[in-house]
Amino acid sequence: MSAPRLEIDLGKIEHNARTLVDRLGSRGISVTGVTKATLGSPEIVAALLQAGVLGLGDSRIENVEAIRHAHVSASMTLIRSPMLSQVDRVVAHADVSLNSELDVISRLSSAAQKAKQTHGVVLMVELGDLREGIMPGDLEKTVRETLRFPNIVLKGIGTNLACRSGVSPDEKNMAELSALADSIETTFGTTLSIVSGGNSGNLRWALSGADTGRINNLRLGEAILLGCEPLHRQPIDGLHTDAITLIAEVIESKVKPSQPWGEMAQNAFGEKLALTHQGNISQTILAVGHQDVDPWGLQPPPGTEILGASSDHLITDAGSCKVSVGDEISFQLNYSALVRAMTSPFIAKLMKVQRSHISLPCSYVTH
Ligand SMILES: *Cc1c(COP(=O)(O)O)cnc(C)c1O
Repeated sequence: MSAPRLEIDLGKIEHNARTLVDRLGSRGISVTGVTKATLGSPEIVAALLQAGVLGLGDSRIENVEAIRHAHVSASMTLIRSPMLSQVDRVVAHADVSLNSELDVISRLSSAAQKAKQTHGVVLMVELGDLREGIMPGDLEKTVRETLRFPNIVLKGIGTNLACRSGVSPDEKNMAELSALADSIETTFGTTLSIVSGGNSGNLRWALSGADTGRINNLRLGEAILLGCEPLHRQPIDGLHTDAITLIAEVIESKVKPSQPWGEMAQNAFGEKLALTHQGNISQTILAVGHQDVDPWGLQPPPGTEILGASSDHLITDAGSCKVSVGDEISFQLNYSALVRAMTSPFIAKLMKVQRSHISLPCSYVTH
């Protein structure tokens, strides 16, 4: 089988999505399934829709278009502010976009008029993480302007935390978003159908039993794909954390000293190595590298360790596992490794409905 490859268990992804849809549903919160880490994979989209997500969200118009071309009719949201250079494509393929700039909304309005259709807008509010969003004090003014644009429908408001700075969604900032929704509705006599509280980082708050107020939507990617919440990278109860694995092939396996010799400078990536091992180790090289994944976002089999990587080589200490050239080794991925692997043309994607791997130490190695 071709290596390296991602093995993607669609049944586990569907289970994760359905579990979150059900748990959040009982709290009055719908799920937008975020596909940006999957390059708009039609199989993963189908699993999310099967699980009952309300709609799909992606940050790249290319992925939105790919999903549309696969004849998916579900509601699609562009979850990054549209580029001015892409407004026509956004209006043509996304039902809704997340916005924070009036210049963009104005151009979406022109594009929508030209195309003789309407486009939905969710206004993003800055609540402390310092990524996208309108400062709360400017929201009323922005809503007033947005409501004036022809062919633009104000669908709601939203926020995004726990991304750039790691600010946690909590009762305080979520209550602030709820209060803003109430105040906009009172001031303008409109109804905001979407109050989108955030991403996988909101799950702890949303499932804690805290008052969810007006928040009725979350946009979830990582939690569905990896079964983890991103604030503390803890597994979520009842979710699979091994729905996606990376399989790489061994191209060298030798007993070598753990310490390099010769005069030491920087390596190819400008890093200085901090080596703690002593003596000889079973050094194994896998044919995968920085070009394909974030090597430090990989979790190797128990008893083995990642020692370093270059563009095309991943170097591991195989510990007491017996590894030969041609063997395959599987790795768990974090979000950063997953995004890179999914978008690498060098990594094959194998969609499986059921996984046959047995998860014992060293059984990660297939001889
Ligand atoms: C990526 C992203 C999400 C999904 O984040 P996860 O942590 O993968 O759940 C939600 N909203 C926005 C605006 C995003 O950019």
